[in-house]
Amino acid sequence: MSAATITVVRTVDELRGVLDGLRASDATVGFVPTMGALHDGHAELLRVARRECGVVVASCYVNPTQFGEGEDLGRYPRMPDHDLDVAVAAGIDVLWLPRDVDVYGGAPDDAVSVRVGRIGDVLEGASRPGHFDGVATVVVRLLGAVEPDRLYLGRKDHQQVVVLQRVVDDLLLRVDVREVDTVREPDGLARSSRNAYLSAAERESAAAIPRALGAAREAFEHGERSAHVLLDACRSRLDDADGVVVDYVELVHAGTVDPVVDDIATTSAVLLVAARVGTTRLIDNLHLASTSTTHGEEPT
Ligand code: AMP
Repeated sequence: MSAATITVVRTVDELRGVLDGLRASDATVGFVPTMGALHDGHAELLRVARRECGVVVASCYVNPTQFGEGEDLGRYPRMPDHDLDVAVAAGIDVLWLPRDVDVYGGAPDDAVSVRVGRIGDVLEGASRPGHFDGVATVVVRLLGAVEPDRLYLGRKDHQQVVVLQRVVDDLLLRVDVREVDTVREPDGLARSSRNAYLSAAERESAAAIPRALGAAREAFEHGERSAHVLLDACRSRLDDADGVVVDYVELVHAGTVDPVVDDIATTSAVLLVAARVGTTRLIDNLHLASTSTTHGEEPT
């Protein structure tokens, strides 16, 4: 389908009307949920979905239920015209720009919600209580509206992939979760809508995050498998960096939020970092595996 035929919809009825027409051809439907302010990381999800699916739908919706008290809901960037440009350039079919009422029907806080339990309480969830309940709730609602065959998620948000895969499994949702590699700035910083909050000096400090992950990768490539040595390699560089305050550095088994306590043995692992640079909280991660990983690989 050509880029010129993109359709922008707002309500669930509009969305379903357009999708009913597109689905007639029996095409695989790929769905990319986002909070908008689309950057090249999001665009990569759209491009991968475009390559793999006959119909591609993306949503841009800043979901209030995944933001905690005092978080950046109010200042989160909203730029629908720019988002449309990115969506057109990626050649997707439908861009869904719902309002709260379109997603939740009424007040978001009164809606039926999903509780994800323990996997949502650790790591990001420890710093952001209720965050993953909000993410799961909105994604279940979006999936109910779109009914896609495939759900495209960024590997940058490791715990989000783990949680949403679990939601899909536990709620018996018929959708295939596809994980897409992290897209980075030339200096390695993971693309994020929140990078826009960084001052020039903070932006320089933030580059310490991929450098610290790179130090752990180098150690891993030289054969290091001890969890505490790999964690130290990363952590010490972050502690030495000006303007970076570490929230956590953790090593977990791939596809889980379970810590690696000893050595990375036969399984692969993911090194996770969350840190504050100024008032901006950034997360990133590094997959450590003896074989290389590819686009669309299932969480293991
Ligand atoms: P967000 O708009 O931040 O909610 O992100 C929407 C989707 O884009 C999520 O699945 C993210 O994991 C993914 N994403 C965000 N940043 C990147 C990136 N730098 N590379 C790849 N995917 C990303």
